[in-house]
Amino acid sequence: MKVIDHLKNAKKTLFSFEILPPLKGKSIDSIYEGIDPLMEFEPSFIDVTYHRQEYVYKKHSNGLLEKVSVRKRPGTVGICAAIINKYGVDAVPHLICGGFSKEETENALIDLQFLGIHNALLLRGDAIKTEANFEPEPGGHAYAIDLLKQVVNMNNGIYLDEELNHVAPTNFCIGVAGYPEKHFEAPNMDMDLKYLKMKVDAGADYIVTQMFFDNKKFFEFVNKCREIGINVPIIPGLKTLTSKNQLNILPSIFHIDIPQALTEAAIACKDDKQVKQVGIEWGIEQTKELIKMGVPSIHFYTMGKSEATKTIAKATF
Ligand code: FAD
Repeated sequence: MKVIDHLKNAKKTLFSFEILPPLKGKSIDSIYEGIDPLMEFEPSFIDVTYHRQEYVYKKHSNGLLEKVSVRKRPGTVGICAAIINKYGVDAVPHLICGGFSKEETENALIDLQFLGIHNALLLRGDAIKTEANFEPEPGGHAYAIDLLKQVVNMNNGIYLDEELNHVAPTNFCIGVAGYPEKHFEAPNMDMDLKYLKMKVDAGADYIVTQMFFDNKKFFEFVNKCREIGINVPIIPGLKTLTSKNQLNILPSIFHIDIPQALTEAAIACKDDKQVKQVGIEWGIEQTKELIKMGVPSIHFYTMGKSEATKTIAKATF
């Protein structure tokens, strides 16, 4: 079933979450270990992130460096198919512009259709370590909206080769990303929202937000979206703070703020076990308020670790 249909049919706030494919070489059991404990909350859909290939320099015994490509977390599409097969829950693969030509994107979308996967969260992706700024693949897409337009075309039966006859239109439900604290590259919030509206006007069915720890920022973001005519469902994304390290890591990777009260409470903890408890209590309060305000779904960034999300869900769903 499409995410948008889950949202339309919902009588209460839905529960959904996101996982990462395991590191290359690990078994899919590690994925199931992260999903099993959350099944009691009847997730409407499970997102699986996409991780593009990176380049590393390998030093040989003769001192020469070799540039080799590595994909640390392959398996997004396979994991989605496995989730649908094992749990009967809809899986949402993330698809990115980075590393894909339009041809490769088209072929990936065809694979998804053949597997019966009719959902996708469409993203640009970030720069890899060897790039100063995001660089599209030659013949690939520069922005999420360009990828989205390709998917919308396929939904209308328009493939890259316009000479193909009697093509089967695809049937994708399309999600896109939104940023309550602004995307870090956008010059200001208004421009970021203008581009978000362009994605919605071009055919996005719903928005999932970047993680945030201050609900006020989410509510302000939703209000601004509605003011400029973005009327699709907006799903808040939540992550639980589980260690002191994350006080620096999360803002630096995801370009978000951690509220002063949460920061001070975490710093006062004697170890990460206590920080996790503080993070869970914070997450419970955030979740309760979001449910009270009638958000369509709450999307938990579990990063493959279910314990904190399980405790929050038990207290709130
Ligand atoms: P875009 O919508 O293309 O926006 C990127 C920037 O360009 C923004 O600053 C925007 O304001 C601006 N912009 C947009 N359109 C235009 C335009 N036409 N002209 C000029 N400027 C424009 N990354 C992964 O690699 N894999 C994942 O699985 C993944 N999952 C994610 C899930 C969620 C819910 C979120 C919020 C992010 C995820 N990301 C993932 C990270 C994401 O790829 C990055 O945040 C990336 O930097 C931006 O992606 P986007 O789709 O928002 O880009």
